[in-house]
Amino acid sequence: MIEKELITVTSRGLHCAAGDFYIDPWQPVARALITHAHGDHLRGGSAAYYLAAAGIGLARQRLPADATIHPLGYGECVRFGDTQVSLHPAGHILGSSQIRVERAGEVWVVSGDYKRDSDPTCLPFEVVPCDVFISEATFALPAYRWTDTPTVAREILSWWHENRSRGLASVLFAYALGKAQRVLAELAAFTNDSAYVHGAIAGLTDVYRENGIPMLNTLPATVAGGANYAGALILAPPSAAGSPWMRRFGDHRTGFCSGWMRVRGDRRRRGYDRGFVLSDHADWPSLLRTCHETGARRILLTHGYTDALCRYLREQGVDAASLRTEYGAEE
Ligand SMILES: [Zn+2]
Ligand SMILES: [Zn+2]
Repeated sequence: MIEKELITVTSRGLHCAAGDFYIDPWQPVARALITHAHGDHLRGGSAAYYLAAAGIGLARQRLPADATIHPLGYGECVRFGDTQVSLHPAGHILGSSQIRVERAGEVWVVSGDYKRDSDPTCLPFEVVPCDVFISEATFALPAYRWTDTPTVAREILSWWHENRSRGLASVLFAYALGKAQRVLAELAAFTNDSAYVHGAIAGLTDVYRENGIPMLNTLPATVAGGANYAGALILAPPSAAGSPWMRRFGDHRTGFCSGWMRVRGDRRRRGYDRGFVLSDHADWPSLLRTCHETGARRILLTHGYTDALCRYLREQGVDAASLRTEYGAEE
């Protein structure tokens, strides 16, 4: 008997019965196809993992040492059961993929997280024509529209230089995997200065370097005393904000790089001195454009403002629905 739906949501995650695999499962499974290494998409305990070769270094850092990981090249076709599977760049972080699943001429694509903006740390998003597109919806509200990235990079640079001219350190909070490295790569176009990085960012940045991504030279922000951080740029994960770790920097200003900084209420509530609108997810216009460009007759939404996007698409006459998954907003 052929299951009507090629991919369904089960208690373990997105499941493809015809191919006997799961995509980004939230419970351990026998065969896990992974879109990218963020914690809500890549979890330990599965018997075998399949993911893009470019993401192997990141997955190795995040999974137990004995995990079985199979690298796949982008565009490489693999047969699982009755399905043909291939990975395609998602433009989200290093090694991020959309997963294309075909059975008997019907094509489904699972986007994982994605963006359409340029990013020197990963390959650009590839539009993959499909019948059913399973999309993220993290920033699926009309208010979320991104500024072009070089403009944001120049804003960060002038904020840093302004603080430096006043003898202050600039502590910039950014998600440790993906965003921090993207900031370091974007700034490399404008300066040869070094930046300090928190321990949670250093190891991941090394993996990006091993993959040949040009970034600012980085130094560990591990020295609690002795180092003079006046005028320096320090990258840290949001979890370090307000922690004792911050004391070493003396007089400083704080900034936060995130799509959430687009909305004034969020900026005020989070209490950073500066917000920089930089996201690794698609903004509202990009979500609409992408859903359209895939040519999908049906759109299923996994996480974020799924209901808002679902409602909008239905008003446009698109067959859309929200799925209940356990993916979160890593930003
Ligand atoms: Zn992600
Ligand atoms: Zn996600």
